[in-house]
Amino acid sequence: MKIAQEGIVKIIVDRSRCTGIGLCESIAEDYFEVGDDGVLTLIRGESVPPEEFERIREAVQSCPARALSLKVEQ
Ligand code: SF4
Repeated sequence: MKIAQEGIVKIIVDRSRCTGIGLCESIAEDYFEVGDDGVLTLIRGESVPPEEFERIREAVQSCPARALSLKVEQ
């Protein structure tokens, strides 16, 4: 995917929208973890390596609350 080659991709969490449903976690449990308190943690931090981009994009798009997005930093 071209976007993954243009800069550093970062995961942005809108915590005001996240309801702790955990679909993101079900797709990429090594990146997203919803705690017992319902709070989402980015286990590996916000940066996404190019080889993980497609899987993380799928997880981001799976969020029914639209709490996740990706940002490309040059
Ligand atoms: S899928 Fe969306 S609402 Fe659910 S835990 Fe992940 S970011 Fe939050």
